[in-house]
Amino acid sequence: MENFRGFKLAPKIQNGIAAAGYLKPTLVQERTIGRLIDGADVIGQAKTGTGKTAAYGLPLLQSINIENREVQALVLSPTRELAMQITAEIRRLGKYIGARVLTIYGGQSIHTQFAALNRGVHIVVGTPGRVIDHLKRGTLDLGWVKFLIFDEADTMLEMGFIDDVEFIMERTPTKKQLGLFSATMPQRIVDLSKKYMQNPEKILVDSDEPSVDTLNQYYTCSEREGKLSLVLELLTKDKPRSSMIFCKTKRETHQLARDLIRRNMNAVALHGDLSQRQRDHSMNLFRSSRVDILVATDVASRGIDVRQVDCVINYQVPHDPLLYFHRVGRTARAGDAGKSYILVSSAEQGDFSRIRNLTKAKIKPLRTDDEQKIQASSHRRQEIRNFPRSRSGSSSRCFRSRGGRRERGGGGGFRRPSR
Ligand code: AMP
Repeated sequence: MENFRGFKLAPKIQNGIAAAGYLKPTLVQERTIGRLIDGADVIGQAKTGTGKTAAYGLPLLQSINIENREVQALVLSPTRELAMQITAEIRRLGKYIGARVLTIYGGQSIHTQFAALNRGVHIVVGTPGRVIDHLKRGTLDLGWVKFLIFDEADTMLEMGFIDDVEFIMERTPTKKQLGLFSATMPQRIVDLSKKYMQNPEKILVDSDEPSVDTLNQYYTCSEREGKLSLVLELLTKDKPRSSMIFCKTKRETHQLARDLIRRNMNAVALHGDLSQRQRDHSMNLFRSSRVDILVATDVASRGIDVRQVDCVINYQVPHDPLLYFHRVGRTARAGDAGKSYILVSSAEQGDFSRIRNLTKAKIKPLRTDDEQKIQASSHRRQEIRNFPRSRSGSSSRCFRSRGGRRERGGGGGFRRPSR
């Protein structure tokens, strides 16, 4: 489709689209907008950064009656940061129709949210916990809702929000439209859609596989103690304007940000031990380019859209391969070019090889001896797996498999990495 004029959207919404600078619908928008406007339930699998928010945001804006200041649409998001980002995008697109959009999340005063709800709101974007809080207090009425959207539904399930989601669903009218968006489509999401949706239209644009065309992915082997100087080397060599560095734990995130700041790097930390105000502050500094480096736990890898992140560094290898795709998906967004690095210690090589096996895109070695090191370690792991029964007094099954990782049951050289 050449432009947005082909959709049955009000002229004032078209003005919002033009003001946002969108000339042509993205693929997910092309396939979703018309179906949602026609009243279908939609289950969409789309890569992050593909324009998912506007894909449901525009039909949702089209559906609301501006004269009625009741909540007519609810968008559920797993994290506060994503909820705020969705709100900003829908507000921007709905500016000329006068849409009132409110974010409801834990960490902000419930009374401030209550006052805003009282003044009248058309669209609520919220995290499940705080939405339930308002429902229980009777400060949020979902009786007028005609649109319910789940954004990053897979993350919501992973974060254990399933009961909350059901609690909220029960408080919305039976007759409503549902949109379920997810970067991945595990069976539980499909089950959820079967339970609540009427013959949903399935839209599969792409999985969360990083773009092969515009993202250059590299790996390099480094033990824990060498990773800080390696990060400094990469940042000095590449001089990215904006980078995100991902760690596995809050402690590591805090320490790395501190170490970088001590070495005169313009960095800030983002993790779950910070207060909401501090998290917002970190995000704002990074978004407004006042800080070049955001050091974060995976809370920041989900769905967050910051344009022009040039470089993503995986300081530690995530155990769950999907997290890798979420992380590197923060760069090379909407056709921009990007670079990613993953620093692999010997203890992390098993997790890394699972990521490599899952991605179609090539993760290239950064240094000449990296491939050799990975091969050597893979042989070592194979040898340990084939360790003869007689010598250990039991079978090779003594290598217990846990979460896809094999580890040795008895004492030996191959240990589960400490977390
Ligand atoms: P999302 O996947 O919703 O997080 O969107 C990713 C980025 O693409 C956001 O910065 C949007 O503002 C931007 N975007 C969404 N739709 C379009 C479009 N049709 N043309 C250009 N940019 C877009």
